[in-house]
Amino acid sequence: MNWVELTAHELHDALKKKSVSAKELVDAFYARIESVEKGVRAYNTLTQKEALAQADRIDQAIARGEAIGPLAGIPIALKDNLCLEGVRTTCSSKILDGYRPPYDATVVSSLKKAGAIFLGKTNMDEFAMGSSTENSAFEKTKNPWDLSRIPGGSSGGSAAAVAASEATAALGSDTGGSIRQPAACCGVVGLKPTYGRVSRYGLVAFASSLDQIGPLTKDVTDTATLMNVIGGYDRSDSTSADLPMPDLTRALRRDVRGMRLGVPKEYFIEGMDPEVEGAVAQAIETLKKLGAEVKEISLPHTEYAVATYYILATAEASSNLARYDGVRYGYRAPEGRDLLEMYMKTRAEGFGQEVKRRIMLGTYALSAGYYDAYYKKAQQVRTLIKRDFDEAYKAVDVIVTPTAPTPAFRFGEKTADPLQMYLSDIFTISVNLAGIPAISLPGGFSKGGLPIGLQILGRAFDEEGILRVAYTFEQETEFHTRRPSLS
Ligand code: GLN
Repeated sequence: MNWVELTAHELHDALKKKSVSAKELVDAFYARIESVEKGVRAYNTLTQKEALAQADRIDQAIARGEAIGPLAGIPIALKDNLCLEGVRTTCSSKILDGYRPPYDATVVSSLKKAGAIFLGKTNMDEFAMGSSTENSAFEKTKNPWDLSRIPGGSSGGSAAAVAASEATAALGSDTGGSIRQPAACCGVVGLKPTYGRVSRYGLVAFASSLDQIGPLTKDVTDTATLMNVIGGYDRSDSTSADLPMPDLTRALRRDVRGMRLGVPKEYFIEGMDPEVEGAVAQAIETLKKLGAEVKEISLPHTEYAVATYYILATAEASSNLARYDGVRYGYRAPEGRDLLEMYMKTRAEGFGQEVKRRIMLGTYALSAGYYDAYYKKAQQVRTLIKRDFDEAYKAVDVIVTPTAPTPAFRFGEKTADPLQMYLSDIFTISVNLAGIPAISLPGGFSKGGLPIGLQILGRAFDEEGILRVAYTFEQETEFHTRRPSLS
């Protein structure tokens, strides 16, 4: 049996039936990592010793006849901006060199309690700033479907690890699309939960009003299972929503009859790849045939989303990243003449180009004299973008769009022009500004064999609605069953 290619729910059945042990799974995954990692480079750090110890605990529980939960013994990868106690956490930046968090992120401790096994920490754009993982200070992660292409970003390592079967599932973070866009590029499922649904405690902050942690998985069922474990109120995060967490596996029903699907006219724009447009149109037809009612809607402020995001996200980043000063965390430049020089040298040497660009942009937007013109204006536009969705959801239950305007592009194609790179997130960014949930799932393939993502957006805290539509579509199609050959 090729265990590494199975979903978490399939592995759970196998563990229960004792067709495989957690130890055998861990060994199979590290063998897989050993054989494909030279090409893919999804991981920054492997945690084999801890993984084997956790596997041993799960196998003992199974041997004692204890009932195991759906994630017990399931091998999972963590984006390298999530704190895992005692294991180096880099955010793919030099500035965190040597940093080992003394605590677990809330999502990490929830997963540990559920018996999940962490295989390692995955590569990303430095501090989650980017759409291709090319901004990592370390390796370039490759797209498992075509090693000459980017895996998407910033959670490119997590998406590639799942697509290449180097982990059954992974966690990523999404500030403007960083779970959904790499999921689309790599042909896996990625969910950005409603803001406040999943605790951010222990997630290294990029833009705190936009960041959310979410799962990347091989199918929609696994996404629901992971969300059940990581979602819910956490008093350690002051922005965590104090709401009961519904059992999201209840949403896994193959039925969209009577559901109202909105198709925003502003999302079918010039410059969109015709194969992406075709796949999404086809997907909408499929859902219509299954009984959904399709309506054209308008989200009139869409054209301002990217500009609004790049003011707010950089403003928040400039404040959040002020803490890396050579004293409190990680890297310190060899002593300067005085404290100020030490700070300046540390930050000049420790941060990469994109991070510096954003700190400068954000500092500028927040500076006296410009604050009203940029930051305050952007906050006002953010409200208008949110109101567009409030208005749309009076007429529809979910909204269907492409996840990204093109399939995975080639290395270097967009690095010379930051604006081109920023436009990769044109379809994902509004969701973060509005705080609503959205999922990307395999929606087709290009003629060249590259995955195309289908995005489904929901009302705030209606993860059930988007999972139901996603599950129905998935059961009707075979895209999620394809695996890259990696030969
Ligand atoms: N690509 C976007 C950016 O660079 C989004 C990143 C993210 O979601 N973390 O900011």
